[in-house]
Parts: sequence; structure tokens; C-alpha cells
Amino acid sequence: METGSIFPQPGTQQPLGSEAGKAAEDDGGGGKGSVDSDATSGNPYAGLVSRLRAAWLSGKTQPMEYRVAQLEALGRFLDEKKQDILEATALDMRKPPFEAEYSEIILCKNDLHETLNNLSYWMKDEHVDKNLVTRLDSAFIRKDPYGVVLIIAPWNYPINLLLVPLIGAIAAGNCVVVKPSETTKNTERLIAEMLTCYLDNDCFAVVTAGVQETTRLLENKFDYIFYTGSPSVGRIIMTAAAKHLTPVTMELGGKNPCYVSDSCDVQNVARRVAWGRFFNTGQTCVAPDYVLCSAAMQEKLLPALREAITEFYGPNPRDSPDFGRIVGDKHFQRVQALLRSGRVVIGGQTDEKERYIAPTVLVDLQPSDPIMQEEIFGPILPIVIVANMDEAIDFIRSREQPLVVYAFSSNDKVVNQVLEKTSSGGFCGNDTLMHVTLTSLPFGGIGNSGLGMCHGRFTFDTFTHHRGCLLRGMGREALNAFRYPPYNQQKLGIIWAASEVKRKGACTLL
Ligand code: NAD
Repeated sequence: METGSIFPQPGTQQPLGSEAGKAAEDDGGGGKGSVDSDATSGNPYAGLVSRLRAAWLSGKTQPMEYRVAQLEALGRFLDEKKQDILEATALDMRKPPFEAEYSEIILCKNDLHETLNNLSYWMKDEHVDKNLVTRLDSAFIRKDPYGVVLIIAPWNYPINLLLVPLIGAIAAGNCVVVKPSETTKNTERLIAEMLTCYLDNDCFAVVTAGVQETTRLLENKFDYIFYTGSPSVGRIIMTAAAKHLTPVTMELGGKNPCYVSDSCDVQNVARRVAWGRFFNTGQTCVAPDYVLCSAAMQEKLLPALREAITEFYGPNPRDSPDFGRIVGDKHFQRVQALLRSGRVVIGGQTDEKERYIAPTVLVDLQPSDPIMQEEIFGPILPIVIVANMDEAIDFIRSREQPLVVYAFSSNDKVVNQVLEKTSSGGFCGNDTLMHVTLTSLPFGGIGNSGLGMCHGRFTFDTFTHHRGCLLRGMGREALNAFRYPPYNQQKLGIIWAASEVKRKGACTLL
């Protein structure tokens, strides 16, 4: 397998005119299937995209055996490089090995196995209902790959959020460019150096790129773009995609509310909320961003949260091997500044050198405080007081639709009411994060938190064009006469009778 030629220096921001640029010159950027040469002429990635497009047009990625072989190779990457993955994520953000294995390896393997177990079924043509006119024909949905697709990933789960979409894209039969986050340098290097040794480099490429290079990459025409990251960058990606009318999935972030009703097992709630908030040092798109509860519940919740935090991380979380660090200096400064909102009741300690922020709980907050305006993405849990469930629902509804809404109550009716009266990408009652672990549930946002879905079958469908097909025979022309001019009322009557979709249960006797 070819390695290196289309991959820029791993771990470095790729200077324009580097490996990808050479590929562009070699290929002239105008291989079969290359498009929009005006926008991409002189573009350092044009050659790379052209090469992948030529591979796509050759049909190489389409047979099921090929897809299975590549997916199995991806599985071997996860097995054989597990230790490297744990080390790279530990170097990047001191991700605890337990959390890395759970979120980066186990969840990816589950998605992979779900895909391999069902691929032949998912790929099959889906035969659909017909009417009288087409009764003798064949009508079906063909599962076509899009072509050459681009996956842009963030840094917080740098393996999972790159590989889960990649699994679906390969399964659906596409050629793929993946762009890992440049923030997590060690993981980026590992992906560029090692993943490429497992996959067919004719069809799958890793581009290591910062903002400037990604901007150039996006000038090329892709057939689908799958982006995971912040809503503000999401807008930039969608704008670039719009130039080529490229369809997109946007897996974005936001502030996930967590309502805790007065009737609940406070210790259990505290453990489940603390786990979801402080997992990966709070750098999780589906983390509970803030708690909404009554003043009476806050009084009970605070000691329970203190106990849960001590149970998890000991008296000094800085010394715990199970508590990570903020990914970078500018990220640290942003999260640290959010500590100025409200009043610290638990934690609050920081160490800039280590990029350490203790698991922290804040109270006495106003909805207008800075911490209530932006996604926290760090180990801080603000508690906002509401009078009751209705006020909590009004609070949630007055803000952007989040990626997930959480509700805790011993009373199922309360959980169901929050589910019914709010809108969000996903929902989890009486726990946090766990809905994401099921490959059978779609994962994605709505409104400001995103567009489109992934996980298991939903990723396969995302990277698949559902092509509506009707195959008719050449004969039986007499049956078509009623739709040809000259038109008359009698022909129209036949069309009504032969093609109408009847409303179920409608009375046809009168
Ligand atoms: P980000 O938006 O800054 O970066 C994500 C990716 O976009 C990176 O690969 C980066 O190189 C690229 N990028 C950044 N600026 C760009 C630009 N101007 N032009 C082109 N590409 C650009 O996000 P992040 O800081 O890496 O991740 C944190 C955000 O991601 C949070 O908002 C979080 O909620 C969200 N997120 C969402 C999900 C989800 O599944 N919905 C999962 C994880 C993270």
C-alpha cells in the first residue's frame, strides 16, 4: 500500500505547496471527474481530491467485499494501536486511560461491529409500494455512495469523532478525506502516520491542516461534508459547502440543560450528573452544561455533589489519575474566565501551568452571566434556580435548541413532560451521556446544535444517497396511452383510478 505521497508531514501544519501541492501538480488538478477548476486551480489540495475522485470513478470502493476489508482494517488499527491511542490522548489532554478506552475505543468498536453485522442488509435495494400503473414494474431505493466526502473532526474525542463518521462513509462506499483537529497534535500525528497504514491510500486520505489550510481544502468540491465542531465554525463550513451545493452534516455544540425535580434520589442524581459533567474534564459536547432546580433541591444537591466528586477523584482531584486537563492554553484561559460568574461552592482551584481546573460547582447565577451565555466545555457546573418544572421548561425553550436535554425525577410523568415540551437533538431521562452509547439511537443536533445524524445505521444513511428507481419494461405501450396527448376527461379519470393514493379509512361507499 502506498504511504506518504498524498499525506503531508504528520503533526505539522501543512505549508501550502507541500505534499498535497505536489500531488496537485503531478495530477494537473484536472483528472477525470475533477470539477470547478476555476475555484481550485492552484489549490494545494486539488491533486489529492482529483486522485480520490479518479479512484471513486473507477468503482473500486463499491463492492461490499472491499468495504468490509477496509472496515476490518480499521478495526485492526483500533486493536493494534490501542496503546498508542491511549498514550497520544494522555499526552494531548491527560485523558484518563479508562475514559479514553471507553469513549475512543469501545464506542468506535461497537459502531464498527454494528456496521459490519448489518452492512449487507443496509446496502440492499429497498423495494417499495407501487400503484396500479406501475404494478408490473420494479420500484426500489438504491443505496448509492455520494462520491468523495470530507470529514472534519474536533479535538475533544479526536479518535471517536473522526472514526465513527469514517466507518459510515466507508460502509456507504465513498472515498474519504479526513481532517483531524490540529489542536490535539499527538493524536493528529498518530492518525496521519498509523491509520494510513491500514487503509487503501488510493481512496482514503488524511489531511493535517490548521484553519488556513482547511480553508483552502474547502475550496475543492466534495460530494458530502461531515463536520463536527462549534456552531461558529459550522457556519464557515456551510458557507464553503454552499458554493458547490454540497450537502452537509453539522454536529455542533451548545448548552445542555439538566433539570432536577424535587422528587429524586439525590445521591444518584449527583453521581450521574457529576460523571457526565466531569468526564473528559468537562470537554464533552453532550455534557450537562448547567442544572436547573428549585432552591430546596439545590440545598440537597450541593452536599451530594461534593460527596460524589470526592468519591470519584479523592480529596484533591489534581492528584487523581482519573481527572484530565484542559486541552490548550487559550482553552484554559477561556474556561478559567467563566469562573468569575456566580459564587464557587465546590472546587474553583486552577493551575495555569498544568492547565488544571478543579471540578467546580457554581451557584447564585443570573441567566445573563457570561457562563450562561456560552458553552462551558470545561469542568464547571453552574446551578440556576427555578421555581418549578414549568419555569425550567420555559427557561429551556427560551434558548437555542440544545444537543441534549436531561431530566431527573422519580416521577416518570415529570421526565415525560420535559421530553414533550422541549426540543433538542437527543434526550436522556435520569442519567447523562448514556444515550450516546447506543448505536441504535440517532445522534445529532437540531437548530443551533446541528443538522443531520450519525451512529450505526444513521451514519451509513448519512453518507448514502437514497436513489429512487423505477425500472419499466419496453412493451405494454397500450397501457400508457391514457397519459399521452391529446388529453381528455376520460384519460384523466383513468389516471385518478390507477394512480391515486387513497386515504386509509376513508369511506368509499358514498
Ligand atoms: P472547532 O469548531 O474550533 O474545530 C473543529 C474543526 O474545524 C477542527 O478540525 C478545526 O481545524 C476546524 N476549523 C476550525 N476553524 C476553522 C475555520 N475557520 N475554517 C475551517 N475549518 C476550521 O471545534 P473544536 O474546538 O475542535 O471542538 C469544540 C466544539 O465542538 C464544541 O462546540 C463542541 O460542542 C463541539 N462538538 C460537537 C460534537 C457533536 O457531536 N455534536 C462533538 C464534539 C464536539
